[in-house]
Amino acid sequence: MKPGKIVCVGWNYRSHLQETDAALPEEPLLFLKPSSCLVYDGQPIRLPPGVGSVHHEVELALIIGKDGRDIKEEDALLHISHLAAFNDVTARDLQTAARSRGEPWSLSKGMDTFGPISHLVPLESVADLENLRLELRVNGEMRQHGNSGQMVFGPRQLIAYISRFMTLEEGDIIATGTPEGVGPLQPGDFVEAWVEGVGRVGNPVI
Ligand code: MG
Repeated sequence: MKPGKIVCVGWNYRSHLQETDAALPEEPLLFLKPSSCLVYDGQPIRLPPGVGSVHHEVELALIIGKDGRDIKEEDALLHISHLAAFNDVTARDLQTAARSRGEPWSLSKGMDTFGPISHLVPLESVADLENLRLELRVNGEMRQHGNSGQMVFGPRQLIAYISRFMTLEEGDIIATGTPEGVGPLQPGDFVEAWVEGVGRVGNPVI
């Protein structure tokens, strides 16, 4: 399946809202990452010189298997074919500067290698999409943990909301937001994003 657009959700866990000093969103906050940011298990995350602090963000990714527009919440799962573990790598200093100036996040979120994704597992192989543990480790040490049940807007709500405005197409990826514990990556680190029953993506940082 060729990857399509990557629709990401910001501040979708209350715990991450608190640590980034953000307000509870009334509607999902959406942004896009280009598919050119994707890398796979074992491939390096490259930190460009001069971009300042770069953070990890473990997320559950929903893979769209069936095109749809104006999808109802009760039909949303019919449009998900697979799940994956995702790391929404973020140039945090650039993002913070952009936030303060009201500018877009395209650069801070969209650089090459800033989208590690695990292998895909079929949706049917997971018992409950809304009760999956997420963990992120750096050099084997736990830095983030959460549960997909803690999302402000769950997978069904996200698919309904996004598809009011953008057609969701086969191969599109929805990154559903990160729990607390985001933190910096340094050259030489090895970062692993894991979702229970889904998989793991591990990447060296260079
Ligand atoms: Mg994120």
